[in-house]
Order: sequence, then C-alpha cells, then structure tokens
Amino acid sequence: MNKSQPDTESPAGGQDFIRDIIQQDLDAGRHEKIVTRFPPEPNGYLHIGHAKSICLNFGVAQEYGGRCHLRFDDTNPAKEEQEFIDAIEEDVRWLGFDWGEHLYHSSDYFQQLYQWAEHLIENGDAYVDDLSADEIREHRGTLTEPGKNSPYRDRSVEENLDFFRRMRAGEFENGAKVLRVKIDMASGNINMRDPVIYRILHERHPRTGDQWCIYPNYDFAHGQSDAIERVTHSLCTLEFEDHRPLYDWLMEHLPVPSQPHQYEFARLNLTYTILSKRKLMQLVTENHVSGWDDPRMPTISGLRRRGYPAAAIRDFAGRIGVSKSNSTIEVAMLEHCVRELLNKTAPRRMAVLRPMKVVIENYPVGEWEELTAINNPEDESAGSRQVPFSRELYIEREDFMEDPPKKFFRLAPGREVRLRYAYFVTCSDVVKDEKGEITEIRCTYDPATKGGNAPDGRKVKATLHWVSAQHAKSAEVRLYDHLFNLPNPDKEGEFLGNINSDSLEVLEQCALEPSLVDLREDDLLVDETVQFERLGYFCLDKETTEDRLVFNRTLGLRDSWARMQKQKNKK
Ligand code: ATP
Ligand code: MG
Repeated sequence: MNKSQPDTESPAGGQDFIRDIIQQDLDAGRHEKIVTRFPPEPNGYLHIGHAKSICLNFGVAQEYGGRCHLRFDDTNPAKEEQEFIDAIEEDVRWLGFDWGEHLYHSSDYFQQLYQWAEHLIENGDAYVDDLSADEIREHRGTLTEPGKNSPYRDRSVEENLDFFRRMRAGEFENGAKVLRVKIDMASGNINMRDPVIYRILHERHPRTGDQWCIYPNYDFAHGQSDAIERVTHSLCTLEFEDHRPLYDWLMEHLPVPSQPHQYEFARLNLTYTILSKRKLMQLVTENHVSGWDDPRMPTISGLRRRGYPAAAIRDFAGRIGVSKSNSTIEVAMLEHCVRELLNKTAPRRMAVLRPMKVVIENYPVGEWEELTAINNPEDESAGSRQVPFSRELYIEREDFMEDPPKKFFRLAPGREVRLRYAYFVTCSDVVKDEKGEITEIRCTYDPATKGGNAPDGRKVKATLHWVSAQHAKSAEVRLYDHLFNLPNPDKEGEFLGNINSDSLEVLEQCALEPSLVDLREDDLLVDETVQFERLGYFCLDKETTEDRLVFNRTLGLRDSWARMQKQKNKK
C-alpha cells in the first residue's frame, strides 16, 4: 500500500460507487455500452475541480469501453463566450482526453427542446406565468412552509400555447413571462414547486445568433440533452441531488428517446484554493492575478503554465477517488503528485537564483573546461550532458556565510565544499565594497578532485550547485506561493481579504546553465518542466521572448504532504 494514500471510499485504481453501478448495469444487460458526458458551461475557464469530473467521466468511459461526450451547456448567452469554449476544448485535450466526433452543445437542441415544451403545455403539464421573479420567489414558500399557486396556474392549454408562441416571437420583454412546469406547489422538495423551465432573454447567442429570445434553463436543457445523446450515466456533483426528482419527472412526461439516470458525487474542495468560477472570474476582472492562466490560479491553464504535468493531475484525480460525502483535500497532496512524477521524469539542470560571484584563484585565467553532469539520477536512460566550468562562477548567495552558526555546513572562510560534478573548493578570502557588502568570494580548487570526489577519500559536508559566469544565461525567475493565506480562504465569504500578498516573487538576473537555452532551441523545454538542482521544479513561461528568458517555479523540492503523512503514521 502506498502510505500517502488518503482515506477515501475509493483508493487509487480501485472501485468506487459509480464504477460499481456501471459494472452492475453492464452485468445486468441494462446497457450494451455506457455513455457519459462532461457538460461545462462556457462562462469561465476550467479548474482542478472540473479536472476531477473530466477524469471521472472520460475515465469510466475508457475503462468500460464506452464513450464520453463533450457538451457545452450553453443556455445562458448573457454570460458565455467563444474564448471560454476554445479554452475548455484545449484544456480537456491537454488533460489527455478525446471526445472524438462527440462534440455537442445544448443549443444544438433548442428546436427539440422548444417542441417538448409545447408538448408539456399540450398535456397540461406546463403553463405561462406572468408573475415577476420576485413574486415567484415569494410564492415558492420555504423548507417548512408550502408554496402558493400562481394566479396564472390554471390558464387553458390554448392560452398557454398562444402566450408561449408569442414569447418565442419576441412580443414580450425580458422577465415579463416564464414557462413553468405544473407539478406541486406543496412538494417537500422546493425544486418540484412548479420550476421555471424557459425565460425570455433578448440576447444574441454565440451559436444560434438571433434565432431565439427565449432560452431553456439548466434543469430543462440538461436532462433532455442527456436523453437525446443517449447518455446512460449522467454524473454530476452533489448539489444536484435535490434536482434529480425533477430530472426524472421530465423524463417521464416527455417522449424522450432514452432514459438516462443522474448520479451525484462530491465536488472537489482544496485547501488554500478557491474553486468557484464566479470568484475566479472576480480575481481576473479585478486584476488580483494576471489572467485566467496566472500560474497561481487553480485553473487547468494556470496549472499548465505553472509546469504541472497533465499526468500528475490525472494521478491526483485517481488518488482522491470519488465519494458521496463532501470533504476538503489538502492542496499539499496535489503538489505531492506533481513532485512525485517530476522527480522521476524532470531533467536536472543547474541554475543560481541569487548569484554571488566566486573566483577560483588557482584556476588558469582565460581557460575553461567541460564537465559531465547526470541528467536524472532517477532515470539512467536520460544520460548526461556537458557543463562548462571556468575561473569565475556563480553560487547561491545563501550558500555562503562569513560568520556561520554551528549548523551551517555550506561555504564559509577556510571551509572546503564540493561543487557538484566539478571540484572541491576552499574559501580563501572575501572581497567587500565600501559599504561592507560582500561582492566576491575567493576560493582555491583541488585539481585532483575532478568530478567531485577526493582520491584520498576526504569528505566535505556540503555540495553546492553553481554556474560558470562567462557561460551563464540570464533569466527572470518567478517564484509562487499559495494565492491565499488561509486553508479555507472563503470561510466568511471574504476571500479577497485573504489573498496572500507574498504569493509572487520576481527574481531578475538569475544565472542559468547554458544547456537550458539549448534545450529551448530544440523545442524541448516548451512543454517540459526541469529540476534546478536543490531549488525545485521550473518551466519556461510563455512571456519568454528572443531576448528575455522567463521561468516559473512549479514547486520547491520540499514535500509537505509526505511530511504530514509521516507524522500521521508516527501517531
Ligand atoms: P463553478 O461552481 O466553479 O461555477 P460549475 O459547476 O458551475 O462550477 P460547470 O461548467 O457547470 O461549472 O461544471 C461542469 C461540470 O464540472 C459539472 O458536471 C460540475 O458538476 C463539475 N464540477 C464543477 N466544479 C467541480 C468540483 N469542484 N469538483 C468536481 N466537479 C466539479
Ligand atoms: Mg454549473
């Protein structure tokens, strides 16, 4: 057993209640093939919560030899945009899933849905209501009190048909009338108290243009779209559980071509993270972040730009599993999945984020050499590369202390350390400016320790990374921390007040090993996250230009999830 597995009802790779249901349905011959769908509303970018739903819907379709549709739930033209549609398609593909020819839109079915609405009216199952939205709310009652019938509830079929057709023809203003199904205003389930299924909205639709000025709402469009597409298992999040009776009611009262069933699972919540499109939109429009794909955003595009591999996100979705009870997952667990994968796959490179110059006094002026560095100690097949070494190098500022405390084992006056893949060096002197700031460290090297080992077997307590000054490529590096400084940033609905003001740190003039730039020329780095030794995982940012390299830190090396699990196991 993997020790870092969370306590969920469905351990990685095992069964969960949804897979159990599908298996039973297949065994009982209720379906030959299963059909699922992922139904995003194109009113924002997809986030890691959607990734859970995508991995579930596309995942079960793959596992059981069925298929999964991508269906845009585009019934609200006031909020939906082409930019979001394009981004959603790109994100689902990037996550590794393919809907093949099964790309659909609720708007593809507007004509059919309209006919079904007339069918309900003709059967006395729906009526046109003139109450305003506020009045409808007042009539709805509460959890403890039944609702009241609308005075328009008993209109004749003819009158309802006439009004509904005139609604469609554009005779009325937004909000003047709605179409409601006639169920039961005293139902214990408020969703069954004559819910609205059509509203007037004089708004141009990205796909249907000006063809319609009435639009079906989610409850009417969703289930019927499932039925048209012959979806077998309509998987959605728990907040739709109370809508299921309406879903089933509509199936029973309409001549739909198939009988899909809705199943609900718990949505993903993550610590230090907001997963609501509306709130993410607010972060973007109020410029708290640089855009939907800001590397601090929990959007798929943000995580991608940050350097998270799609495979790590899929792994995370598998490990958290699917259950019926809401919970909050530690964001550290997602980070753990990313680190675990990158540790196996990421090429190692050397880079110095806060450079301090080191001069090797006994290394010949004007000369340099190439040393062999291993690309990935976890993967022999990754091979090795040559790294230039010369008399002037950069090391990390924090790897030197003039007056080190007891537990500081790195470079200090008179002390010998190893430069990774290179030599042992000993600090002989420091050079300071008039303010007393160190500007340069002087060292000597031992030529007999080439490769980083002493033939006499003597040991050093630290190994430092470094970059040859004359060969270094300069870059901007952006370091990220959680966007919010509370585990539950939305506790009092005050998420904007909990933004972490230190979530982005920009370092200029970092010194990179030149092969990082060669990698870019080979187009290797474009998609690849690399490990800067001792510093973490990094990837090239899209803002890189011909003369400016920009890197993002994906994550540091320290795995807080693994540490939390160790502590848990000790208890
Ligand atoms: P938000 O609440 O962020 O606006 P949404 O549910 O309105 O999200 P949709 O575009 O309607 O966004 O969602 C598409 C699908 O993704 C739905 O089936 C929805 O249940 C699922 N989904 C959305 N958020 C999560 C989440 N946090 N965890 C799991 N599934 C989710
Ligand atoms: Mg929704």
